[in-house]
Amino acid sequence: MAKAVGILGGTFDPVHNGHLRLGLEVLKEFDLDHVRLILSARPPHRGKPYASEEQRLKMLYAAVRNNCKFVVDDRELKREGLSYSVDTLKSLRQELSDTPLYLILGSDAFNHLSTWYQWQQLLKFSHIIVMQRPGQPIALGEDMKMWYQEHLGRAEHSALSAGKIWPVKLTQLNISATVIRADIIKGLRPTFLTPEPVVKLIEKLSLYQ
Ligand code: ATP
Repeated sequence: MAKAVGILGGTFDPVHNGHLRLGLEVLKEFDLDHVRLILSARPPHRGKPYASEEQRLKMLYAAVRNNCKFVVDDRELKREGLSYSVDTLKSLRQELSDTPLYLILGSDAFNHLSTWYQWQQLLKFSHIIVMQRPGQPIALGEDMKMWYQEHLGRAEHSALSAGKIWPVKLTQLNISATVIRADIIKGLRPTFLTPEPVVKLIEKLSLYQ
């Protein structure tokens, strides 16, 4: 069986060191081959991103250039309509056959998973890693509680390619795209919050002003 692949989706508006550090920590903890950064083109659960698809994609490429542990994946840009995770996982599963897949989600997103399109199908194609964000414990509604208990991952870690939920506690960097955008409006340069090539690209394209 091929080595496992992590999947980190986001609007990456812009990508920052919080995303990259999270990917790296999960990569080490789950012994992944690489982490795919999947750019969400038209996210169903939030407003329209500030930077265009093309600009956000350029920033992703600039962030991980020369790092083979991160792969930029633009498959959601090539699809019509809203970017549903279940469609993305289905297409990755077709492409990567029985490679174990690990969808990485923050506990904030996970707690509301039952509002996602075909949420129960997600585990058919992938495992889910739930990263517990500080101050945001896993707190599930009645519709998810049983499902969560039934799928909690235990010792069978490496044998399965999908179907389990793995809660993890990771040290999280206190960085968010929202704060970076707000800083740029104030004229502050996001040095050390995102890789330098991304900072330069933001300046060159005059983004978030
Ligand atoms: P915004 O501030 O615009 O909401 P964001 O910084 O949260 O953006 P997203 O593109 O929405 O970035 O995030 C993609 C994924 O990365 C989500 O699963 C989110 O939980 C996670 N994430 C965001 N910031 C961090 C961080 N500092 N540390 C770890 N994970 C993060």
